[in-house]
Amino acid sequence: MDFHPDQGLTAFRQQVREFLHHNLPADLAGKPSASIRSALADLIRWQRILNAKGWGAPYWPQEHGGTGWSVLQRLIFDEECVAAGTPTQDGFAQKLLGPVLNAFATAEQKAAHLPAIFNGDRLWCQGFSEPGSGSDLASLRTRAERDGDEYVVNGQKIWTSYAHQADWIFLLVRTDAEAKKQAGISFLLVDMRSPGISVRPIHSIDGCHHLNEVFFDNVRVPVGNRIGAEGDGWKITKFLLNNEHATAADLPILRRYLLQLKQLASSQRVGTGALIEQREFALQLARFEAQVTAIAMLVKRVAAMEQARDHSPAAHALGSMLKVRGTELQQRMTEFMVEALGEYGAVAYPTPENLTLQALPLPAEDIARGIAMEMLFRRASTIYGGTSEVQRGIIAKLQFQL
Ligand SMILES: Cc1cc2nc3c(=O)[nH]c(=O)nc-3n(C[C@H](O)[C@H](O)[C@H](O)COP(=O)(O)OP(=O)(O)OC[C@H]3O[C@@H](n4cnc5c(N)ncnc54)[C@H](O)[C@@H]3O)c2cc1C
Repeated sequence: MDFHPDQGLTAFRQQVREFLHHNLPADLAGKPSASIRSALADLIRWQRILNAKGWGAPYWPQEHGGTGWSVLQRLIFDEECVAAGTPTQDGFAQKLLGPVLNAFATAEQKAAHLPAIFNGDRLWCQGFSEPGSGSDLASLRTRAERDGDEYVVNGQKIWTSYAHQADWIFLLVRTDAEAKKQAGISFLLVDMRSPGISVRPIHSIDGCHHLNEVFFDNVRVPVGNRIGAEGDGWKITKFLLNNEHATAADLPILRRYLLQLKQLASSQRVGTGALIEQREFALQLARFEAQVTAIAMLVKRVAAMEQARDHSPAAHALGSMLKVRGTELQQRMTEFMVEALGEYGAVAYPTPENLTLQALPLPAEDIARGIAMEMLFRRASTIYGGTSEVQRGIIAKLQFQL
């Protein structure tokens, strides 16, 4: 791995910056959001701007209509987008389902779904977890029984992010109750408007509605909506979950927190001085800077391995390390920001998505916007995408294969 500046990457960064400078509408830039995903209309508008440039699928290879960027280029794109404050994309479609469709779908299935992803016409959610089947995903019980050319789906999913906004869901179902538990699972694409689907909101600790329960009551799904063969669901899931290790730490977000902390360091007053003059604050800020830099180094290393299609135990273990260290750092940094805000730290700003908090008073300083809610939301970062305990188990197990 080479840590010297790469001229090609520097030029690429400049190209992305220029594009963002000229094409990110001012009314979308840096818009506060009540969650990790932007408001629906903003997300769709931004997706269409990217698509018009040919960047509708920044993480996919060219042969599937993507940009063909290297892993490091994708990371730079993410970093510049976070720094410019662009709306988010539909991560479920872009980072999870898209690669699965590219690798396993038929030409007909690709034609039916890919154009709608490029243009933001169809948003997706992920129906994997069930009550009692989260970490132990293979124990899932939602069943799909064959009836002619259709499956009849019955069961329940939980923690389904943005199911209330999604047009379609990619779903793990049990198609064979007799087979060994991993072998009896299949991967279906289901239209959320199908009769028999109901969505119930779960309000999270940040006061927002991102999460849902989704119920399936005799939902009829064409067999043609199955990806891969019957019983291939687990193989496809392993591919999907192992797809992107380098992004597991969410480095662009950590960099944004660091920047916010530096802004607070000079803008917040303690007595007659700036916050940065407080020794304890300055020390902690320096520690965070060192930790974010260490994560950035590890990201570069993992990206190099991913680029070389290295699927060794070491690559997997490093991906899990990034997830653990990155998400735990997200929690510590957001907690520290809330503390640094003093009395403003306890105030959450109202947003259209966050009606339950609308009665709270508004602090005068813009810098506090969204920080308390971000801190509360990030409590979940060590759970979603695989809990820290499970990641540590993976690291321990893989260590014996190194
Ligand atoms: C904000 C948020 C968004 C989410 N979005 C989605 C989504 O869109 N789609 C979706 O399908 N799911 C989603 N999830 C669900 C997420 O994938 C699960 O919550 C996660 O996999 C953990 O499963 P669980 O909640 O059932 O907890 P459990 O698996 O029951 O775990 C409970 C506790 O036991 C520990 N534990 C479990 N197994 C082990 C083990 N082998 N070794 C050591 N400790 C263990 C865990 O670390 C945890 O502390 C989301 C979750 C959150 C919090």
